[in-house]
Amino acid sequence: MRKIRTGILGATGMVGQRFITLLANHPWFEVVVVAASPTSSGKSYQEAVKGRWYMNSPIPEKIKKLKVRAVENDFTQVVKEVDMVFSALDLDKEKIKQIEIAYAREGVAVVSNNSAHRWTEDVPMIMPEINPHHIKLVDLQRKNRGWDKGLIAVKPNCSIQSYVTILTALKKYKPHKVSVTSLQSISGAGKTFQTWPEMVDNVIPFIGGEEEKSEKEPLKIWGEIFGNKIKLSAKPKISARCIRVPTTNGHMAVVSVKFSKIPSKEQIIHSVSNFNPLKNLNLPSSPVKLIKYFEEDNRPQTGLDRYLGKGMSISMGRLSEDLFFDWKFIALSHNTIRGAAGGAILLAELLCKKEYII
Ligand code: NAP
Repeated sequence: MRKIRTGILGATGMVGQRFITLLANHPWFEVVVVAASPTSSGKSYQEAVKGRWYMNSPIPEKIKKLKVRAVENDFTQVVKEVDMVFSALDLDKEKIKQIEIAYAREGVAVVSNNSAHRWTEDVPMIMPEINPHHIKLVDLQRKNRGWDKGLIAVKPNCSIQSYVTILTALKKYKPHKVSVTSLQSISGAGKTFQTWPEMVDNVIPFIGGEEEKSEKEPLKIWGEIFGNKIKLSAKPKISARCIRVPTTNGHMAVVSVKFSKIPSKEQIIHSVSNFNPLKNLNLPSSPVKLIKYFEEDNRPQTGLDRYLGKGMSISMGRLSEDLFFDWKFIALSHNTIRGAAGGAILLAELLCKKEYII
């Protein structure tokens, strides 16, 4: 079977590089186009990322020599060469919206990491384990826009991945009030310690726009399709603080929750440990164990546990009673894998499985 011809928009950045490594031997998708800004275009991929290749594994041989294309200037040619693109662009949101629409209009399936279309009414924002049914919004999107093969689907912010997955596993206990403080790595800003030396030995108590995303995006994820849009979920209400900390990869979350039906510790651990709604779909990027609960007092640790399930699993630990809420715990997810490229690839696999990308 022919693999799906795949392009990466923003292929030279932090998330773009993660796409390159995760797709190196993908059974369904083959990277045939790498595209970025006019500064990188015209160079070989290897040349374009010289001195800024941030991944631990080397650039795949096949990709090294691909000529980087310009996302906008080479548009006419690129849309003929791909069936699908992953968008990992970082530029003005309105511009990204226009670019993603332009690709989809030409029949390309666009699966995006960017926040530009997260609140566009007919665009589904999907965490494949949580709200796969929102994929139906694509039918409406295609009808609204007169698109045949093209589509736009997005994944939510990297900061929400761990606690939204855990709270969904505990849905039957009706969590209604959540306080979360996220401790977010510097790769979340597309940076390393070399490019952001101010982060060495430092903590910054502000990440622009992140607290709003952490509080609001889960409500669309947990919402239901009502008429021709998503009706936001009213609960749980989330109050978030997002802090930048000096780690390279991995976002930790410190979470306290109030439930309408208070579960026991055993019930919580049992529910999260057995939660993996996608397991029968056999999607290549779906981890065997979605949430791993650690009994040890000093886990999960960013350094030890972020690559669990090849970076697609969620870790949880330190579950204990909370003085003001019912329960508190610590959670961890990999921001550029589960929270970005890996999550988008899983979404694209779901779109293929459901025959939205053929
Ligand atoms: P990044 O490292 O700054 O990379 C940005 C990419 O966009 C580069 O490939 C860059 O190309 C390209 N670009 C910039 N201006 C362009 C233009 N005018 N035309 C075409 N391409 C252009 O950013 P990142 O951290 O990978 O993030 C990418 C997106 O993913 C952002 O929207 C971010 O919010 C989102 N995201 C990131 C994370 C994370 O953990 N990092 C998690 C979830 C979502 P050049 O190299 O040629 O400049």
